[in-house]
Amino acid sequence: MRNISLLLATAVIMLAPGLGRAQSHEFQVEHDHLWRSCLGKLIITEEGIEYRTENGDHARAWKFVELKQIKIASPNRLELISYEDDKLMLGRDRDFSFKLLEGRITPEVSARLLAKSKRPLVTSVMPTDEGAPRFMAMVKHLHTTGGCAGTFKVFSDRMTFESADKPEHSRFWRYSHVQGISQSSRYRIEISSFENQPGGVGRDFNFQLKEELSPSAYDYIWARIYPSKFRRDAGAPNPASLTGDEIPIKHMGRNNYGSSRSDEMFSAGTTDRQTFPQRGGAAG
Ligand SMILES: [Zn+2]
Ligand SMILES: [Zn+2]
Repeated sequence: MRNISLLLATAVIMLAPGLGRAQSHEFQVEHDHLWRSCLGKLIITEEGIEYRTENGDHARAWKFVELKQIKIASPNRLELISYEDDKLMLGRDRDFSFKLLEGRITPEVSARLLAKSKRPLVTSVMPTDEGAPRFMAMVKHLHTTGGCAGTFKVFSDRMTFESADKPEHSRFWRYSHVQGISQSSRYRIEISSFENQPGGVGRDFNFQLKEELSPSAYDYIWARIYPSKFRRDAGAPNPASLTGDEIPIKHMGRNNYGSSRSDEMFSAGTTDRQTFPQRGGAAG
C-alpha cells in the first residue's frame, strides 16, 4: 500500500507541468588533484553547479555568478575556474577539473551552460546545430607547432570551429563572446576569445584558410562583433539581445576603413589589439 502511494506521488510529480522542466544533470566524476583525485557527483541545476563528495575539503556549491569560467573541454571533461583564491598557487583563482566517469556532456547540457554562464562559456560541444552557415571554409587550426584540420563556419549568431582531428579544439563563439577578429593575410583569420589561458584571459585561435572565405564574410562577422560601429548593417542582430551579456567594445586602433568614421570607432577603447586589413571602401 505504501509503495502504491509512493508510485502515485511520483507520477503526480512527473505529470505536474513546469516541475518536470526544472531538470538537473548529474554526473559521476573524478576531481583531478595535483596528486591523485577524489570521487563524487557533479550536479548542474538551474542555479549553479554543485560538487558532492565525501572529501569535505573539496565539496562545493557554486552559483553561476561565482564561476569565472565554465569550460567544456571535451564531452567528458568539465573545467571550472572559481573566484576562490588558490593558496597553493599564490592566490590565483582556483580551478576545478572534473572527468566524467559515465555519461557525456551533450549538446543539451552545453546549451544549458551557455544560457546560464555569466561569463562566455568555453565549449568544445556545440550547443546547437540550428540554421545553415552563411559562410564556411576548410581551415587548419594553428598550434604552437603543427595544427589540426577542421571547418570554420559563420552563422547569423555565432562562429564555430569544428576540428576533425582534435574534437577538444572545437569551439563555439557567440559574437558577443569574442574580443575581436583579424585577418593578417588573405588566407589567415585570427579570433581573440575571452578564454582563460595560462597567464591570463584572451586565448587566440589562429586559422590558416585552405580555401578563400568570401570577402563579404568579414564584413558580416564584423557587423556582428561590433554592431554599434556598423549601423549601416541594420539587419545584424544585437549580440547583447541574444545573451543578455554586455557587448565587449574594443578600441580599434587604426581606422582601416577610411577617414569618414572617426569618433564613434573609438568609444570605450581598451587596447590596440585589433587590426584589420585594408579593404578599400568596404565600409562605404
Ligand atoms: Zn578533490
Ligand atoms: Zn587544433
